[in-house]
Amino acid sequence: MNCSYESIMIVTFVPEVPNTARQHLQKLLGISDLPDPRWRCHGSSLVTVRLEAVDKVVLEHVGNLPGVRRVFCLSNKERLYKKKVGSVRQPVVIGDHAVVGGDCPTVIAGPCSVESREQVMDIAEMVAEAGAAALRGGCFKPRSSPYEFAGLGELGLEYMAAAREKTGLPVVTEALAVSQVETVASWADVIQIGSRNMSNFPLLFEAGANSLGKPVLLKRGLAASVSEFLEAAEYVLLGRLSTDNLQPGVILCERGIRTFAPAQRFTFDVGVIPVLQQQTHLPVIGDPSHPAGERSLVPALGRAAIAAGADGLLVEVHRDPDHAWCDGDQSLDAASFKTLMKDIKRYSATEVTAG
Ligand code: PEP
Ligand code: MN
Repeated sequence: MNCSYESIMIVTFVPEVPNTARQHLQKLLGISDLPDPRWRCHGSSLVTVRLEAVDKVVLEHVGNLPGVRRVFCLSNKERLYKKKVGSVRQPVVIGDHAVVGGDCPTVIAGPCSVESREQVMDIAEMVAEAGAAALRGGCFKPRSSPYEFAGLGELGLEYMAAAREKTGLPVVTEALAVSQVETVASWADVIQIGSRNMSNFPLLFEAGANSLGKPVLLKRGLAASVSEFLEAAEYVLLGRLSTDNLQPGVILCERGIRTFAPAQRFTFDVGVIPVLQQQTHLPVIGDPSHPAGERSLVPALGRAAIAAGADGLLVEVHRDPDHAWCDGDQSLDAASFKTLMKDIKRYSATEVTAG
């Protein structure tokens, strides 16, 4: 094993015996049961250890301890999200065949929130016809006010699944809490973690660790720096490792940040798209709807994201935006979504992935 004193060691355990395996590891490394700042448990089957004072010879034995599944070593500056020199982006497959981060941009579109079976069915057909590759729709909605509609919950997930059945589009929807992760994973193809939860570290890990191995779409926090955003992705990737899932499965989404510029709801940080792509192998998409706050601005921001090299878009679309229960002001109708789909083909090097 190639570990140095300045390394982070990640150890995963087989699920049946994590407690005893952890104890063996602690003993081997001379780490007592008392809290130790170098040692951190993430869930029950993954620990990370900072190797500052550990005997290198001892490390050779970690992989042979009973119950240890895998051992990884990262230098202090290395991360799972980091792009290795010369390496390319790792596409993420959603559903049976849609790919984010492949040769052409992938558009995920749908309502801000699922309102009824008919509503989501209609919109799914509409976006599929225009060339979207996946359907979005919130069922557990983070709302700034506790008096606003907060989604249909599991009923909405059922409607999303019905829309997938009808159109073949994989579905993307948000989990707001650790307790919702398995439910969302069981219905949806991608678990969205929203901006407000980008720093909810236990949720990030558990979303990555969902038992069905569903990929995660992670939105940038309202005031998150690039490194905070990427470290959040690292939590999700660790979650995936904890279930021995080595497939790439995190999509990053720029959705606007809060600045002093009042002209848009949030300032769309289009420049962060190539910055992220330089630093990570994870695909990066743009959400032009939430920063725009107003539907007339959405197409320009969508085109800008694609022109900047985004691997796709997440767009809010509604059959009757003026009467949407949530975020209608920024939702495109069928005609403007179709136009956007046509336009972004001109801004991307190749075709747009069809559903
Ligand atoms: C959404 O995409 O439905 C959403 C709530 O977005 P954000 O987390 O970016 O505000
Ligand atoms: Mn919304």
